Amino acid sequence: MNEPIKTDVLIIGAGPCGLFAVFELGLLNMKAHLVDILDKIGGQCAELYPEKPIYDIPGVPFTTAQGLVDGLMAQIKPFEPSFHLQEMVETIEKIGDPLFRIKTDQGKVFEAKVVMIAAGGGSFQPKRPPIPGIEAYEENSVFYSVRKMEAFRDKRVLIVGGGDSALDWTLNLAPLASHLTLLHRREQFRASPDSVNKMMALAGEGKIDFVLGQVSALEGEGGRLAKAIVKRNDGSDFHIACDALLPFFGLTMKLGPVANWGIELKDGELIPVDTAAFESNVPGIYVAGCVVSGSKTSEIFIENGRFHGKQIADDLKTKLQVARVK
Ligand SMILES: Cc1cc2nc3c(=O)[nH]c(=O)nc-3n(C[C@H](O)[C@H](O)[C@H](O)COP(=O)(O)OP(=O)(O)OC[C@H]3O[C@@H](n4cnc5c(N)ncnc54)[C@H](O)[C@@H]3O)c2cc1C
Repeated sequence: MNEPIKTDVLIIGAGPCGLFAVFELGLLNMKAHLVDILDKIGGQCAELYPEKPIYDIPGVPFTTAQGLVDGLMAQIKPFEPSFHLQEMVETIEKIGDPLFRIKTDQGKVFEAKVVMIAAGGGSFQPKRPPIPGIEAYEENSVFYSVRKMEAFRDKRVLIVGGGDSALDWTLNLAPLASHLTLLHRREQFRASPDSVNKMMALAGEGKIDFVLGQVSALEGEGGRLAKAIVKRNDGSDFHIACDALLPFFGLTMKLGPVANWGIELKDGELIPVDTAAFESNVPGIYVAGCVVSGSKTSEIFIENGRFHGKQIADDLKTKLQVARVK
């Protein structure tokens, strides 16, 4: 087992509610480590709608979702939180009173006196495109996220999609890949116009290929991709030789491993908590942010979710005072 990282509080989820909790805990002098599956800080705001305007934060007439995340980061900087990105918390084990051992899928181990689950809608799961047999290539040649850009150096890369992720990775991987093709089913993009213009410029300079169509089949051996068969919009077929396929068809949210942590669940999703303190049925494990509302995501937003961190901090403060008196 790896050497454990010891901390007062481990926060699972670096979305806006997890971030604001750092501020409330910091006022109590409690150090927080945050773990997130994503490769960036900011939860749904950063991953799903970074450029969308947000108008419903008091005192902030206008910001973008990414602007809000940047503001939160500036606000919690004095408390020096530590971030562990691209790590999914898989297990939580009670090993003391109060002490928890938390393990991630990347082998990191934490020991924390308090755990705060700020996991939002859960883990974001990539949408798999409807290509027969694609599972056989996943993790070998088919990837739904880019964890290490270097893995694609000198590879023939095929990126599929028309959103921000597809365009961002086209621009970022073009200088590394030996050959890069962006495939999209239509000429209109959901991605930001700036990225689309940059991609078109690369295509115009012959640095990448941009083609219209949809992948209908894959060919290769032992999980190693050799080519993708692409159907054009007029029904004709052609193939693209490639070593890696990166489909970016969006994400869905699933509660994921949270369901296995011994927290009382209702209907497989709701985490009922004492809403005075937001403590779960396991003492020492708290729940904050929109995860509290299960699938009723219209109930908890950034603004009302931030109070959970405050209520949790208040509860911890009371408990710390009681412990000192004892
Ligand atoms: C398109 C869209 C527009 C929106 N617009 C607004 C708006 O204008 N105003 C507003 O107030 N709200 C808005 N919302 C809702 C708002 O984004 C959410 O209420 C808010 O993000 C909840 O914050 P959170 O910190 O609770 O969870 P999230 O932002 O969901 O963050 C949770 C984090 O936990 C991580 N995680 C989950 N499980 C694990 C695990 N096992 N291990 C490690 N990490 C894990 C996830 O990767 C994620 O990053 C919008 C939502 C969407 C989708």
